[in-house]
Amino acid sequence: TIVNPAETPQVTQQLSENIILTTLDDLYNWAKMSSLYPMMFGTACCFMEFMAAYASRFDMERYGMIPRATPRQADLLITAGTITMKYAPNLVRLYEQMPEPKYVIAMGACTITGGMFSVDSPSAVRGVDKLIPVDVYIPGCPPRPEAVVDAVIKLRKKIANQSIQELSQLQQTHRYYSTPHK
Ligand code: SF4
Repeated sequence: TIVNPAETPQVTQQLSENIILTTLDDLYNWAKMSSLYPMMFGTACCFMEFMAAYASRFDMERYGMIPRATPRQADLLITAGTITMKYAPNLVRLYEQMPEPKYVIAMGACTITGGMFSVDSPSAVRGVDKLIPVDVYIPGCPPRPEAVVDAVIKLRKKIANQSIQELSQLQQTHRYYSTPHK
């Protein structure tokens, strides 16, 4: 059946809006995933592997990722290392200072579950996702640089499928907890 667009103006208008939105999404997502700025952040030994991922052998900068020394210029937080209860408020504050849209990769057993400190230590946070939302997890103790690169590729795929509308809804949602829970 041949549909005459002149007879279905509403459908045609909706269709053209969707096409424009999809094209904008693609352009916006491409720009975002090609220029992620991770914050220089490390609290324990996992950070050594994070640094190795940036060295010439693994060369994370080929993904357009330039580390930033301030949260106000960063849109990616890779939590490399143990998060202590004392440090938790500072981590939340750093996250709050990052501009939207922002992403979090939890790197290593300590940051994901408390790791070896989850048994007896009262000072380790049992999972950074109790403080801030996590997009990708990297298990291991410590995870190898290849695993960090793999997590970045997974995050890029996630970004590629986001829509501007979805992001604006996320920005209106209070997405984190302000106090740590064990
Ligand atoms: Fe260190 Fe292992 Fe904990 Fe990473 S997961 S911070 S390497 S003890």
